[in-house]
Amino acid sequence: MYRSHNCGELRMDHVGQDVVLSGWVQSNRDFGGLTFIDLRDRYGITQVVFNMDDDAALCEEARKLGREFVVKVEGSVRERSNKNPNRATGNIEIEVKKLDILNASKTPPFTIEEDTDGGEELRMKYRYLDLRRNNTQNNIIFRSQVGIETRKYLSAKSFVEIETPFLIKSTPEGARDFVVPSRMNPGEFYALPQSPQTFKQVLMVSGFDKYFQIVKCFRDEDLRADRQPEFTQIDCEMSFVTREDILNTFEGLTKHLFKTCINEELPDFPRMSYDDAMRLYGSDKPDLRFDMQFVELNDIAKGKDFPVFNDAELVVGINAKACADAYSNKDIKKLTEWMQRPQIGAKGLVYVKYNADGSFKSSIGKFYDDNDFKAWADKFGAEPGDMMLILSGETDKVRKQLNELRLEMGSRLNLIKAGDFKPLWVLDFPLLEWDEDAERFHAMHHPFTAPKKADEERMLNGDFETMKSLKADAYDLVINGSEIGGGSIRIHDRALQEKNFKLLGFTQEEAEEQFGFLLGAFEYGAPPHGGLAFGFDRICAVMKGQSSIRDFIAFPKNNQGRDMMIDAPSKIDNTQLDELNLELNLPEKE
Ligand code: ASP
Repeated sequence: MYRSHNCGELRMDHVGQDVVLSGWVQSNRDFGGLTFIDLRDRYGITQVVFNMDDDAALCEEARKLGREFVVKVEGSVRERSNKNPNRATGNIEIEVKKLDILNASKTPPFTIEEDTDGGEELRMKYRYLDLRRNNTQNNIIFRSQVGIETRKYLSAKSFVEIETPFLIKSTPEGARDFVVPSRMNPGEFYALPQSPQTFKQVLMVSGFDKYFQIVKCFRDEDLRADRQPEFTQIDCEMSFVTREDILNTFEGLTKHLFKTCINEELPDFPRMSYDDAMRLYGSDKPDLRFDMQFVELNDIAKGKDFPVFNDAELVVGINAKACADAYSNKDIKKLTEWMQRPQIGAKGLVYVKYNADGSFKSSIGKFYDDNDFKAWADKFGAEPGDMMLILSGETDKVRKQLNELRLEMGSRLNLIKAGDFKPLWVLDFPLLEWDEDAERFHAMHHPFTAPKKADEERMLNGDFETMKSLKADAYDLVINGSEIGGGSIRIHDRALQEKNFKLLGFTQEEAEEQFGFLLGAFEYGAPPHGGLAFGFDRICAVMKGQSSIRDFIAFPKNNQGRDMMIDAPSKIDNTQLDELNLELNLPEKE
């Protein structure tokens, strides 16, 4: 027998019992007469003690145990004289009578403790050791629990879990595909799915009615901080539903996950249109854990002598509470420079301090008087002591910039409370996005998203300008400023789908070549349907109040898309290339 109990289990009730524990040596402290070992497994840490007076040979052996040795100990549970209130097993220890070394270990390259001294790359290379740390391990266990609760909830609602293929056809829409050469079909390639979108729609045509899958998706994007080339979605689709049915079902799922996995009771989710989200927060994923809504000033700030505002499409700002005194000229200069970095690209930043004595101080004080500023303050709901921060310029750009400033001020002013969750449905996204450079439309969500019913007619018959104003029956779930999921009601009619492909710049042949199966399926009784997908890694991270999805993926890739442990991607040998009928054509190395 390797163990009667695990390393997180023993309490005062067990005192006097003989037990067997197995685990890893986290630390070894030798005090001459006594040697203390912290023994760790998935469940926790238990202190085990070797006493020179009781068994000198055993104690000698224990002294030699290095970190991460795997051992089995037999002994009896006793009360600790020096209790550790921070540890679940901190009231007891094991007085060891027998020790078996199950396996030795080299000294690990970093400490296997909550706060490790290992850098990120090193920990990724030795991921098996990083995953041995209780906190990393708990994240992965948490993820498993979220998956299980997802399956419970959805299967109770009659969803069917169906696998869709990983080797599919490459399509140019969306992100770049990862491709896989086909040995049996020389010169031809599969692509790994960016999502099972078209398959789940076909399943609706087949009549499955409610589908879900916890599924890997692959996107060959340039990797931004919190992106992974392969990630997991909770992917869902339903037939004979309206947007309302979908929002209710998945609001229910989200509440269920928060309740069962972190014991958090979420209130009903508020809803906001995409237009309002952009107007009030400059973002389609506003963080509602703090207020600081945008206030537009066009009507009162323009038409005076300040040309910058007069020439701007939009003058808009936020009110930073109680910052008038806290921000010196130097602080404001620094903040302005922060806004002018290329990542944000603001031209400048105007401040108006509403001083405690009711007077105003501003960088544009010579263009406006106190009466003007008072009117602004009223619009902001500002009080003496506050500072208004104002940007101006082209609407879309300025809103994006002010969004960055709002998030920065929210964090500087400590407005975000740990453990606070603020979900939000964002609705009514634009259907199409005009790309000035490429002179073409892109689908804001994806090419299968339906316009809102009221816009269908305009979509089929409207002119170019009309297309820019079409709204989609698409929705996103946002929690704490993170996009957790998104989806839409789909087009289920061949003519409308063909029209959409045309607007997106597909020729009829291209549409047929790439999506003929779907257009075909729509001709055989496609039911009205819609769905969404949740970012599974992301929802786990958000629920745990963490920013990185990597911590919730057992074997993540680094910023260059490399798996550091197995060292992939890697070259393949010439025989493999020949079999695949591939020839490499790499640029000469200098
Ligand atoms: N397939 C979509 C995505 O990956 C989600 C959906 O529309 O259901 O974003």
